[in-house]
Amino acid sequence: MKLWSGLGYYSRARNLHRAAKEILLHHEGKFPDELDAALQLPGIGRYTAAAVLSIAYDVPLGVLDGNVARVLARLLAIRGDLRRPHRWRRLAKTAQDWLACGSPGDWNQALMELGETICTPQNPRCEICPVSKWCRAYKLGLTDKIPSPRVKRIAVNMKIAAAILRDPRGRTILVKDPGAHDHVLFSRMWQFPAVQVARHPRAELEKHLRASLGVRGIVLEALPTARHGVTFRNITLLPFLARVERLPKLARTRILALENLSHLPVSSATRKIAAAASKPRSESISGL
Ligand code: SF4
Repeated sequence: MKLWSGLGYYSRARNLHRAAKEILLHHEGKFPDELDAALQLPGIGRYTAAAVLSIAYDVPLGVLDGNVARVLARLLAIRGDLRRPHRWRRLAKTAQDWLACGSPGDWNQALMELGETICTPQNPRCEICPVSKWCRAYKLGLTDKIPSPRVKRIAVNMKIAAAILRDPRGRTILVKDPGAHDHVLFSRMWQFPAVQVARHPRAELEKHLRASLGVRGIVLEALPTARHGVTFRNITLLPFLARVERLPKLARTRILALENLSHLPVSSATRKIAAAASKPRSESISGL
């Protein structure tokens, strides 16, 4: 997790590790070549299983990812949101029916590459496309209408206040907080004590520190804010610095020098909060 930190998609790293252990334990260190067994592995869904089995073992399974779905939908001039279950099922059936069973891995990769490089979401390069003569969307002049744009989730604004507690030796405390926001923002990795706040960030953070760490009577100094986007959430990070005589010693906490943060697996949000401690204070927000 330390090496992966900052890259996002943390559940993939966790599942990869868990799957590797299971492959060693139950499959003699070799990725299973049967669909049912592959689907039992952590993090392996129908798409990944079909991709791995067709490419590695020539198992005749068609893949359907976003690129393939777009190519097939244009070839057949299927309109509407492709992720709707009935459309996706139809596309999956087409991917399977059209599969070149002699070389399924090559076929699947060719379709994925076609979507990635030529049949792109915007401005597909139909004039050089090797399958244009079979493409209904091209014939009908519908390539910019298919697929329909996906309906975007409405953005949610939220504020997270976080505390960088600092002792006289320049050390700080990180927690593993099972709070409501940690899996989204801090990806269940080490993080600064933090809480979602509304109107009075400083007071709300103080209250959180009292309740979670037993820290009281501290002065929270506002640091420069940072923006952070996670899927549909627009997050404003509100870091605060507090000097303390002694850091609390509790379960699920780690104490370390702030400059050694990279020794632990942390999310990019945690890095942004840490970076605020080294920025000029003039960028701090007022009225907190
Ligand atoms: S002709 Fe154009 S729209 Fe049709 S598959 Fe090729 S690139 Fe895609």
